[in-house]
Amino acid sequence: MQFIDLAAQYQHLKTKIDARIQTVLDHGNYIMGPEVQELEAELAKYVGVKHAITCANGTDALTLSLMALDIKVGDAVFCPTFTFFATAEVIAYEGATPVFVDSDAATFNICHVDLEKRIQATIAEGKLIPKAIIAVDLFGLPANYPEIQKIADRYNLKLVEDAAQGFGGSIDGKRAGSFGDIATTSFFPAKPLGCYGDGGAIFTNNDEYAELIKSYRVHGKGSDKYDNVSIGMNSRLDTIQAAILLEKLAEFPIELINRNKAAENYEVSLSGKYKTPQVPEGYVSSWAQYTLLSASRDTAMAMFKEKGIPTMVYYRTCMHMQTAFDYLGYSVGSFPVAEKLAKSVFSLPMHPYMDAKS
Ligand SMILES: *Cc1c(COP(=O)(O)O)cnc(C)c1O
Repeated sequence: MQFIDLAAQYQHLKTKIDARIQTVLDHGNYIMGPEVQELEAELAKYVGVKHAITCANGTDALTLSLMALDIKVGDAVFCPTFTFFATAEVIAYEGATPVFVDSDAATFNICHVDLEKRIQATIAEGKLIPKAIIAVDLFGLPANYPEIQKIADRYNLKLVEDAAQGFGGSIDGKRAGSFGDIATTSFFPAKPLGCYGDGGAIFTNNDEYAELIKSYRVHGKGSDKYDNVSIGMNSRLDTIQAAILLEKLAEFPIELINRNKAAENYEVSLSGKYKTPQVPEGYVSSWAQYTLLSASRDTAMAMFKEKGIPTMVYYRTCMHMQTAFDYLGYSVGSFPVAEKLAKSVFSLPMHPYMDAKS
């Protein structure tokens, strides 16, 4: 059994994907070819936003968003400590200061109660200017945007949705990628919607942000890429990757159903033995990971291994304990829920072709 079976997916879509790639080889527009625009239109339609802008990867998608929001030195940006490194990395990369927030014990997502406390503490301290929140749809489950948006409004903060793992999820029918001021996703192969290399996208309803991001992704271009009006970067999605994603996106709704069936099967067979992931009323998860909790994680993982079932740990180290963030001066014990999660979570194989192979 494989942790994520990309080969099974390719076999299922091979004829269509091969034909799409061949079309790109025939027209030869490898950078910003017609498939890129076609994909952006399809993505915007699926997510339900005005603008979808593709880029080179999910990390750049976050960086481009923070650039559009003018995040800089002296700014505080709040994000969960229990997440993938990129969420916090991009804040520091822009020269701003990540302010970490504890997790919700039930959903593993950012805890809105702790979020408000950390915002108030930052204001009271008076050293940084609170500017934005990056919430993460961890393991495929959208964060609690109804509550987080209220807090963002109350303190006049921008809200970014990191939907790298959340693409396909929803709250009351509103899709991941449509929350906050700007949302981002990743098309890294192992994500719910992945390509065959690196890729990412940014979603927004805001025309001004969309224009800025389109400029920043091509060297801060003005009328063309040799007229440069600001400092940007080179972060485009390859046409071949867009071609592959068009076929994968067409299949995605069926895959999402399959992922949810796989999660239901896990729930039935495991809920008595482990703490299984719970999806709040009205929420849909895209199940980027199916994550269990066990106080004796090593023993549990060894048992699965014996049965030929691979497991992985996402994530062993919270952001406030990462060496790279030593300079922020956090210590053990400052985020009790997240620290406990880091010690007890482990994930099981999850992909839309589980039945075919397992
Ligand atoms: C994967 C991931 C990213 C970064 O995406 P890349 O395409 O690998 O750069 C950012 N945030 C989260 C939560 C992720 O899981």
